[in-house]
Order: sequence, then C-alpha cells, then structure tokens
Amino acid sequence: MEMHCSVCRQPYKDDDMVLLDEYNTVIHQSCYGLETQIQDLGTFHQVINKYDFFKQLRKKNEKKQLTLNLDEQTITNMQKYAKLHNVSVDDLVTALFIEHAQAPMETVGRIQKEQGNLDELDEFGKKLNKYLDEAAANEEDEKMAEVLNQLNKVHISKLEVLTDLYKVYEENKKAQYFGH
Ligand SMILES: [Zn+2]
Repeated sequence: MEMHCSVCRQPYKDDDMVLLDEYNTVIHQSCYGLETQIQDLGTFHQVINKYDFFKQLRKKNEKKQLTLNLDEQTITNMQKYAKLHNVSVDDLVTALFIEHAQAPMETVGRIQKEQGNLDELDEFGKKLNKYLDEAAANEEDEKMAEVLNQLNKVHISKLEVLTDLYKVYEENKKAQYFGH
C-alpha cells in the first residue's frame, strides 16, 4: 500500500516536498492549508526516514534483489520495451505480475470473502460462455465465428479477463441497486 497525500490523494514520490503536522500526518507543502501545527519539513524521503513510527512503511518500500535466469533474447526485448516506455525493467516486471497474477487473485479473494463462495463468478463465466456460443452459432461468417470461439475457449477463462469483466458487471449491479 502506497502512502497518499490526504488532500490531493496523490501517492508520494521520494522527492516531494512535504510537512509533518502535529498529528504526525504527512501533507504536501503545497497542499497544506494552515489548519494544523507544522512539526517538521523536508522531502518525503527525509521525513519517512527520520521518525520511528514510519518504520513499517519504510520496510514495505524497501527494495530487495531477485535474480532471474532468462534467455538473452528475452532480456534484450524487456530492456528495449522498458526503454521505449520509459520505465525500469523492475517496474515492468512488477506491473506485469500485478496485472496478470496479483490483481485477479485479490479480486477472487475479495469475492470469496464478501459472498462466502465463488458461485456468482462461476455463473457469470458460464453466462459469458453461453452468449459467445450463441453469437458464434448465429454468425454466418465462419471466420468471425472462429474468432468468437477462440474468445470463448481461450480468453474468457483467463482469470485476469474474467475478474476484470466481472468487476464491470459488479459496478453496474451496484448502480442498478441504488437506482441510477
Ligand atoms: Zn497533496
């Protein structure tokens, strides 16, 4: 969990100029509105490293090394991709892991916790299979029918795709419930 400014909601970067107020809350200097007493000033990095009560947070942000054994071509491709998109390979690997593995698993965990089981997610997947089956059966263009079959057989069953679509369904279910 990143630490956010309570005023502008932006996650802090190490060199952001911040202040620590009398309640030990960190606020951007540019977001400060004179409501509380200032205890300290500095960059986010300086303030976080100065006080013991930020120990937990420092631990979370600490970087550790991980050695990967990848073939040369993959390494070259990753480095090229990272350079092109102006990110580090570390950030690239992190983003891929979160998007394709961590986020889908967290969504499944949340549903399990909220609903006690995964029946609704299961039903949702089956409904999508049925729609795509019907769409493929009704498609006169065989080439397009094969695309729909591929979507149905390969992509819908990917957890990252299914959970992402389910979230859209969930959002609209909530909106319906509140009468919007
Ligand atoms: Zn701010």
